[in-house]
Amino acid sequence: MSAVDTHLVGVFEDVVRRNPGEREFHQAVREVLESLAPVVEKHPEYTEASIIERMCEPERQIIFRVPWVDDEGNVRVNRGFRVEFNSALGPYKGGLRFHPSVYLGIVKFLGFEQIFKNSLTGLPIGGGKGGSDFDPQGRSDGEIMRFCQSFMAELHRHIGEYTDVPAGDIGVGLREVGFLFGQYKRLTNKYESGVLTGKGLNWGGSLVRTEATGYGTVFFAAEMLKAKGDDFEGKRVVVSGSGNVATYAAEKVHQLGGTVIACSDSAGYIVDEKGIDVDEVKDIKEVRRGRIKEYLEKHPHASYVAGGSIWDVSCDIALPCATQNEIEEDHAIHLVKNGCVLVAEGANMPCTPEAIHVVQDAGILYAPGKAANAGGVATSALEMQQNASRDSWSFEYTEDRLQQIVRDIHKRCVTTADQYGRPGNYVVGANISGFTRVAEAMLAFGVI
Ligand code: GLU
Repeated sequence: MSAVDTHLVGVFEDVVRRNPGEREFHQAVREVLESLAPVVEKHPEYTEASIIERMCEPERQIIFRVPWVDDEGNVRVNRGFRVEFNSALGPYKGGLRFHPSVYLGIVKFLGFEQIFKNSLTGLPIGGGKGGSDFDPQGRSDGEIMRFCQSFMAELHRHIGEYTDVPAGDIGVGLREVGFLFGQYKRLTNKYESGVLTGKGLNWGGSLVRTEATGYGTVFFAAEMLKAKGDDFEGKRVVVSGSGNVATYAAEKVHQLGGTVIACSDSAGYIVDEKGIDVDEVKDIKEVRRGRIKEYLEKHPHASYVAGGSIWDVSCDIALPCATQNEIEEDHAIHLVKNGCVLVAEGANMPCTPEAIHVVQDAGILYAPGKAANAGGVATSALEMQQNASRDSWSFEYTEDRLQQIVRDIHKRCVTTADQYGRPGNYVVGANISGFTRVAEAMLAFGVI
């Protein structure tokens, strides 16, 4: 092992020791560190300044009590988090996740990934993430509102348009951002549009932000295919999930001539060989807040599988858009065996390390989430630009900007992978390119 490899292994061991029990955080750190040897070799100044050690330690971690009253009058208590990971490139930027699985390790994995993702966009945004172990499933609008208000009663002290700009993630959409923004405005007595993104169009939101993560993922996949002289036309596509990312990924696949044959929620998945009716999925999920099995009411020819994994369905293109570690080694083996040519991550870290190895060893195209789904946060940065200039842009203009940003990210990944002797490796390309921009800024700032 070279001196650099030994050093990187030591850094990783320290991360594990200092952050016990945070499995997902360890996984995210390991995946990045495994790519960095060649760049660290070339830049001894990064090691001298302990850049990587500093990057692995959040600048600030806030953990707080979130008490709220449910519809029966019971007092409930959840835990809130905001991890402000790295502000070398701009204010901390990243979503809030409300899901019962949320604990510090999840927020840290997401915040860590966000640093490199946001750097890759080329825009002035640092990395952060937050959330709560609150479960919005089955809660009334009133309960959601009271929870969001209580969450913001603490969070408002820590955020601001130049400090930290949260947005949505799993369990946090337009409704929740509305309650959060309303409470922030009330507590601070400021109409500070740039403090949150993912806002409604009448109150500072940007066109295309809702669609951006899903559209961006498909734009990225289209760029990968294009580099191989291929496209979406006639491809059978599986998109896991049925939330914001999945539905708009499916919509864009259909616009580009592919067919999405399956999507899912946490209870099961549907298969519709005629192509998923995306408007119906949006209606079930966004309007009725129902379950994906209700799809069969209007589409009795489709099938529903309760439980199980959507990754048992064969496809040409896999777009995991549900959650972390949803594609395991066996699923990856199945996908490869059945002729899948591309995996692009709409979700954050949806493939386990074993699954990634299977996919990469088979030589099929693989895009990690920090590159593939960066269009979402990039459009948040466009929302911030519009807020700062008190302007609002048209759908076409904003979508063009998004597409150009995604093309640039793709180019950065490809060029960097080539430059470091790993052509076609989007993991190496994304990690090194994202890392370098942050490392250079940190060096410029001295030891802080
Ligand atoms: N939660 C999204 C992500 O994973 C978006 C974050 C944002 O727009 O700030 O990138």
